[in-house]
Amino acid sequence: MVEKTVFKKIIDGELPADVVYQDELCLAIRDINPQAPVHVLVIPRKEIPALRDATEEDRELLGHLLLVANQVAQQHKLSDYRVVINCGVEAGQTVWHLHVHVIGGRVMEWPPG
Ligand code: AMP
Repeated sequence: MVEKTVFKKIIDGELPADVVYQDELCLAIRDINPQAPVHVLVIPRKEIPALRDATEEDRELLGHLLLVANQVAQQHKLSDYRVVINCGVEAGQTVWHLHVHVIGGRVMEWPPG
């Protein structure tokens, strides 16, 4: 049997998390290792390992995740913020369950490292 990812364990209630938003399609939790004053992860309940695995069937879900990302930013009074999806090892992905980073509360630099 394949080991559940940390996010699947959180979704299944097997690991604690600081949940800031949830609905039937996704949940948003505070990142355990925040890179800015606000660092929230929007995680679909559906298990999609990485963005490259998403299909046409996921069109609405992906749009929903972005709208929730903005909702979370507004909840934290952020007008400016960064949304990041790391896809693959070379992009820095470490958890194989699609997630959207919402990062804000400080000035950001570009390009990212
Ligand atoms: P990525 O590198 O894009 O795959 O992002 C994974 C993120 O998950 C990292 O920013 C981690 O700090 C975060 N993370 C890992 N485990 C947990 C956890 N148990 N609760 C909250 N965030 C986590």
